[in-house]
Order: sequence, then structure tokens, then C-alpha cells
Amino acid sequence: MKLDQLISQIELAYSHGKLDQTQLLAHSLRLRIPPFASTDAEEILRRPVIVGIDAEWFEYDKSRITELGLSVLHTDTVWHLDSPWDIVRKMLHFHVRIMENAHLVNSELCPGHPEKFQFGQTTFAKQSEVKALLEYAFSQTDKRGQRLPVIFVGHAVDNDIQVIKEHFGFDIDAQGVLVATIDTQEMAREVRFVNPPAKMRLSHLMSKFCIVENYLHNAGNDVVCTMIAAVLMACSDPFPDNHAKSYADFKQHVLVQGSQTIAGQPVMSLGSRVFCTNCHSSSHFVKHCNAQLWCSFSQGQAGGGIILRPHGDFSCIKLAKWQAEQNTKMAQDAGTQSSLLSPSVSAAITASTSTTQPMSIGTTIVPQLAPNSTHSHETAPVTIPSYLQLSMPRYPFPCALCIESLDPMQHKPQHAYSHLEKDCIYRPMGSAQGTARNQ
Ligand SMILES: [Zn+2]
Ligand SMILES: [Zn+2]
Ligand SMILES: [Zn+2]
Repeated sequence: MKLDQLISQIELAYSHGKLDQTQLLAHSLRLRIPPFASTDAEEILRRPVIVGIDAEWFEYDKSRITELGLSVLHTDTVWHLDSPWDIVRKMLHFHVRIMENAHLVNSELCPGHPEKFQFGQTTFAKQSEVKALLEYAFSQTDKRGQRLPVIFVGHAVDNDIQVIKEHFGFDIDAQGVLVATIDTQEMAREVRFVNPPAKMRLSHLMSKFCIVENYLHNAGNDVVCTMIAAVLMACSDPFPDNHAKSYADFKQHVLVQGSQTIAGQPVMSLGSRVFCTNCHSSSHFVKHCNAQLWCSFSQGQAGGGIILRPHGDFSCIKLAKWQAEQNTKMAQDAGTQSSLLSPSVSAAITASTSTTQPMSIGTTIVPQLAPNSTHSHETAPVTIPSYLQLSMPRYPFPCALCIESLDPMQHKPQHAYSHLEKDCIYRPMGSAQGTARNQ
């Protein structure tokens, strides 16, 4: 049966009120529900892979994804007598922190807990590497090597498929395996936990099962809780349980078992277990970082004053916040919703970073050996890898000549923030140097 035929049968059953998301998930977990489609379609929908996904991003900038949580369940390993918690134990969970953005730990608007993944080992990967994990999740096969259909599960699924495509370069639709998307917020309405159009937060949904998770807003924990809530809602009545205890037992189980294999297939491993969000070394964590780095942004802001921990531009959360604010302003000014510089502008910025003057946001860290340095990575100049060369305005303040100019090309923020006044090509010959900011 072709994928589009399968999808249209599901849609038809939805529109005729024969099926809802909760029932579809129950069916795929081998629970008996009233007939809703052809025998063939129902058979295929009894063995999909359930893929849960959750992402976290920097609280001031949605374009900077900091974490991805992903869960995979092969429903062909589910047995019809399994309890919901047996099913939960058959899932495989991943928690990945994105190297480029891992220093952006939310603490103000929506505090996050990236270091508190409760269901396995967090790994660190470059944003470009995450695609491999998504490919893995969406290309699971059965024993005969046939690709399995996928049901995508999330909490508050909105434009997630688009977001995944934009940030990780992975087109879920193009895989030709996605048969349905299930949103646990929608399921919560279907099982009458909440009346439409009200929406239920994940913590509130978990509380319906007497489960408290202290470290939500960790993409890994969020996706595991979403999958648990989905399974518990789909299986609701037949298995009354002390869910709080089962949840605690499940955590213990993960701790002891470590990562499982799924359906006898090797488990994907991605990225590095050890990574310093401050200096990007893969030999220590940030709490043990002794790297002497130079952040031109914080130095400029504090006027050379005290900075809590030496860090680079690439690991400066203040700079990221500032950039987000500038991007918002630029978008408002330009009347567009673009949040990044055009490729040509960022290429020009990257191409001219050889300057060593302190205010430049360059690509080479000036190493300053710590008096009692023991870490080898502190002694050699560290060159920031190219993937860290962000598309960003190079200077935290504009060229005064350009920003005040009446020429729209000149006062455009992309241009005005791309250089210092002393380097300005519009500066009259022989005029005095200096920046407006420092005066
Ligand atoms: Zn470090
Ligand atoms: Zn800084
Ligand atoms: Zn200028």
C-alpha cells in the first residue's frame, strides 16, 4: 500500500469521527480499537516506529537550538500483554546538546536544565551532525530490511517539521515514511484532561499521572515524558498503576541498564560525551575549565573590569543576547523577519578577521597562559573551528559615521556594524579617529 493511500485512510477516519490520535496510538501499541480503515492499512499501522522529538532553544533567540531530545520505539517489539511501563522500557532515548549553542543555558525567562538528563548519557554534537541521528530515527527497518512507517510524536507540535528542516537540514516529509503526527496536547483534549481550546503544559499533563519531573526544560527529559504521557493516555484504563513509583523504577532501570538496543539493531551513537561549553575542548567539562580566553564583547562592556570566567566571543552568553536584540531591531528596521546577515555580508566579515585589535570579534583566541596552567590546551593558540564562525555583526557597536549617514546603503545595520569608524571607507581623508561609543 502506498504511503499517500495510508495517510488518506487515516484522514478519512479522523474526519468521520471513527478515529482520533489517542486511538491511533493505541492501535499501533497493539490495543484493540474499533475498525477504522482497510485491513491492509490497519495491519501496517500495527507496526510503525514511534519517533518523539523535542527541542530547546536559547530563550532570547529561537534561531539558536541548544538541545535536541529524541525517542524511538519499535512497535513491532511491543507485545499485546505489555503494560504501559513495559512499553516505555522498550524505547530508546537520546539527548544531544548542540556544540555551537551549548553555552546558552537559559536562566532568565525559562530556566533550563541541560545537564540534568535523567534517562541516559547526554552527548555533544555539532548542529550539522544531528542530521545523522534524525536519518537514523526515520530509516528504521523491519527484520526483512523493509523501511518502517513512522508516527511522529511531540508535545505542542506546531511547525516542528519545518524547524527540523531549517536547522538540521533534514526533511522529514521527503523520507516518505511519515504516516501521522500525534500531539500530546491534542491527546490531552481527547481524553478530557482539558477542554478545548485550553492547552496543557507537559508538567501538568504528567501530574495527571501523579508524576513529578523536576528537570523539565531539558529536551531529553521532555521527550521522554512526552512519550510516557502518550503511552499512558493511549493505554489509560486497562492498567491502573502507581505511576509515580513506576516512573521512579523506570529511572532506576535506565541507570542500571544503560542504553538498550532496539529490535536487535545497533544503537546510533552521536558526538562526544565530554565537551567544555566554554573553550570547546573535548577533554574536560566547563566546571573544570581553566582556559584563558578573550571575549572582546564582555571586555568592551565591562571596560576591562571583572568578568566571572574567562571566555571567548563564541562562548559569551551576553554577546548572544545582544546579537538577538540587534537581530530583532534589524528585522524591525528593515521590515523583514530575517534574523541573520545575508551570506555575502557574513562572508565579507569572515574574510577580514585577521585584525588583532581588542574590539574585533575575530576568529582567533589570544591565549594567555594561566600562572599554574596544567591543561595542555591552554598553552597553544586555539583556532576556532570554522563551524563556530557565526553569521553575526562583527562589532558590538556601529561605525558612528555610517549609522548617522543619510545614505540608506551606509546606515543599513549590516553595513554600519561591519567595521569600526577608523576603518570606514567613507571616512574623509586625514580626519581624527575615535568611536562615538568610547567618548
Ligand atoms: Zn574548557
Ligand atoms: Zn563575553
Ligand atoms: Zn562606516
